[in-house]
Amino acid sequence: MKPIIIGNWKMHLTASDVGDYARTFLAEPDILTKAEVTICPAAPLIPAVAGAFSNSPVQWGGQNAHWETQGAFTGETSMAMLSNLGCRLVLCGHSERRKFFHETDEMVSRKVEQATAHSMVPVLCVGETYEQRHQQQHEVVVMEQIRKGIDLLSAFPSLALYVAYEPVWAISTNQAIEPNPSDIIAMARLIRNALREELPTGAESVPILFGGNVNPQNAKKFVDGEVVTGVLVGGASLNPKTFHQIVTQLV
Ligand code: PEP
Repeated sequence: MKPIIIGNWKMHLTASDVGDYARTFLAEPDILTKAEVTICPAAPLIPAVAGAFSNSPVQWGGQNAHWETQGAFTGETSMAMLSNLGCRLVLCGHSERRKFFHETDEMVSRKVEQATAHSMVPVLCVGETYEQRHQQQHEVVVMEQIRKGIDLLSAFPSLALYVAYEPVWAISTNQAIEPNPSDIIAMARLIRNALREELPTGAESVPILFGGNVNPQNAKKFVDGEVVTGVLVGGASLNPKTFHQIVTQLV
């Protein structure tokens, strides 16, 4: 199976930066065919990213969308809008959404449902804070995020889901403490067990990714190819050369 590598540009770059980024990133395209690479820019940049990467192995996705199909939600983006722009996946419940925009597990669950209803792969982001790990609550917190996050998926005949385990304390803009890879694999195994318990079918094939200050030096440590099969990359995806090096490390 190809490693899954998702770049999350967060609220960085502009549409004017996309052409140069794509030229640099696509300079060695052969490597890119050996991985499943998706870039998630901020919503207004998606058409530029789609234009720059449409004839390449690189796909694109959304960082977030609303849980309602449409309506009077000023400033929001719908799943239909992302799907219409060719997004293949959408991040649901990123820790920055949970922290700064007060997204609850219930909201995240409806986003996962809406992404699925619009034929995109929801990337369910889960992860505990530093305090929660310190208080030995990390397993309880993450299992709850998984259970509630996938709550509405049983209504769909087929399952397309990724899970990204991102301990909040490991993300580059937080404490960025480098986790012990064995702790990441252990949590990924628990996530797999929770998926087995909650999903009627398909739990074995849900890819589990790691995110938290992934860079070319550490990427391989966290991807064992069996339990963890990919990465969600924030800061290091902003530089096309660095992001390409991460792909090179994982293929
Ligand atoms: C992220 O945005 O999901 C992330 C893990 O960020 P970073 O790689 O910068 O820690």
